Amino acid sequence: MEKTVYILRRSLHQILEILFPSRCIGCGARSEMLCSNCVNNLKLTDRPTEDSIMALYDYRDPLIKKSVWELKYHHSPHLGRKFGELLYESFLEEIELIKILSKGLPIYIIPIPISKNKYQKRGYNQSEVIAKGFCNTKRDNTFELKTKVLYKKNNTIPQARLTNRNKRLQNIKDAFYIKDAKEIKGRTIIVIDDVTTTGGTMLEAIKVLKKSGAKKVVGFAVAH
Ligand SMILES: [Zn+2]
Repeated sequence: MEKTVYILRRSLHQILEILFPSRCIGCGARSEMLCSNCVNNLKLTDRPTEDSIMALYDYRDPLIKKSVWELKYHHSPHLGRKFGELLYESFLEEIELIKILSKGLPIYIIPIPISKNKYQKRGYNQSEVIAKGFCNTKRDNTFELKTKVLYKKNNTIPQARLTNRNKRLQNIKDAFYIKDAKEIKGRTIIVIDDVTTTGGTMLEAIKVLKKSGAKKVVGFAVAH
């Protein structure tokens, strides 16, 4: 039933998109969902994150908040692809350094997974859409998208519902598992997420990947 509703909703969305082309969610201009002018005015984050995590925009920027909300709950995957491209363009220098470490092998791009329950409800994983946009910027073998390595268990409470930092960290502990550790042994990995708040989710994913034999793992998030 849920799946049928989702397919109907998606088809309706696509038909509406043809009849009434997108308007920018920032200024209302007839353009992409985020016009280049609004993108240029997004507030970059200047708040520090954890050492191995880099974030691009300030989550307190109302347009960033709105974009992430649209991406998660309004079936707007193209916004995710756009953010993926922006991540790539903004972190070129960091990517070059990671490339050196990967010694000619593709850098694995791993989106932070959502639980199976949530995936069925939403129809897609927003971080995976961002990761796709990120990988599409390079058509050579610089990146390889890996969506079947890192998995999330079903039983954690959504992080957004917990306001206490310690509770958040505790909640995410052991939330991930790896299916095929052989695949990532000795590899260089960029983990991708939409928003990082305490860094807990990303750090936990990085920890699990490293424990399973990955050589170097860093995290890129759209907002912090
Ligand atoms: Zn705009």
